[in-house]
Amino acid sequence: MRNTIGQRNIVLDMIHVQKTDEVGIRLGILAHRLCQSVGGVFILVNLCPKLMDMVRVSHLDKSIKIAPSLKVAEDLIFAHELESEYRGQLKINMKFEVLILGNSSATPMFDRHPTSQVLNFNEQLFLIDCGEGTQMQLSRYGIKSNRLGHIFISHLHGDHYLGLVGLLSSMHLVGRKSDLHLYGPAALKEILDIQFLHSETVLRYNLIFHPISPDEPGVIFENRTMKVSTFPLTHRIACTGFRFDEGPRARTLLGDVVQALNIPTVYYPAIKKGMDYVDENGNVYPADQLSLPAPKSRSYVYCSDTVRTADYLPYVQHADLMYHESTFLHDMVDRAKETFHTTALEAGEIAKETHAKKLLLGHYSARYRDLNPLLEEARTAFPDTELSIEGKWFSV
Ligand SMILES: [Zn+2]
Ligand SMILES: [Zn+2]
Repeated sequence: MRNTIGQRNIVLDMIHVQKTDEVGIRLGILAHRLCQSVGGVFILVNLCPKLMDMVRVSHLDKSIKIAPSLKVAEDLIFAHELESEYRGQLKINMKFEVLILGNSSATPMFDRHPTSQVLNFNEQLFLIDCGEGTQMQLSRYGIKSNRLGHIFISHLHGDHYLGLVGLLSSMHLVGRKSDLHLYGPAALKEILDIQFLHSETVLRYNLIFHPISPDEPGVIFENRTMKVSTFPLTHRIACTGFRFDEGPRARTLLGDVVQALNIPTVYYPAIKKGMDYVDENGNVYPADQLSLPAPKSRSYVYCSDTVRTADYLPYVQHADLMYHESTFLHDMVDRAKETFHTTALEAGEIAKETHAKKLLLGHYSARYRDLNPLLEEARTAFPDTELSIEGKWFSV
């Protein structure tokens, strides 16, 4: 990317920034400082009207631009690398959150849909399970299916994958070109092949299938910022859970300090990785005087259908957010065992035992119109529990 005046520009997507005065002011100051230090243009996109006013009034000058959307901002971005470095520093836009598309078990009931979730990690979208109706739910909650790069299917019960053929076909019909990675039980490939064979469909995009070993835990996807691993669960048929671990995060640069020392910006990435800075006179400035320790990396754990066992607990330790199925209330524990499911109380106990920070319940049986008893029961074991509600985002 190129900048005609030889400077470096930064874009910041504000779509999920809390719309409070305090954040607006803080952001304005940071934006201003950053622009001064890099001598580039700072571009804010998706700013809510209130924040827009605050930034305008307090700090808008020629170095800060406001663009209505990322699309417009893309034309203005010249230094992606620098942008991502500063994203880390500002702790803004490092989204890690999950949108619930479906929270029902077996049958859709009370306007609840079978299981599906979208995980947004810094604008990489991962779809987890794809029950019937998932593509309609995506559209209802404003997620463009073509933004999905990776789909993970836990097992081959219909409530976790029957929406897949429809979704894949629609992607074909709307002319998707980019590769799509699909992870799931080996037999899923056979099911898809036969569907596409008899509809004489040749997909316009590459569907890259990654079979998951049902018995062995393992890493199935990894890039610089995210690692996805599987672990076996105990269900009526082979079923796997998924764990999403954020990669190592950068240290937080002390902007005032490095600016006061006139440290050239080109050294900032190295300092954020923990390196000391040595100036031209040989003076050493230790990294811990120039930056704060890196924030802890976050993790999301998805425990799909399973009966309670101790077998998978080693793989789900210390999750920042744990989704655990909770099909029944504990008075139905015998039924839960019979059908290889978990009760709300058990889900709470598992979250406690594995030191989760927060628990999200889901996969509710059609027998419960009111979900609050499930929530209350789980909270007796693990207070920081929430109900997964369709259309709601939960931060990891
Ligand atoms: Zn299920
Ligand atoms: Zn199942």
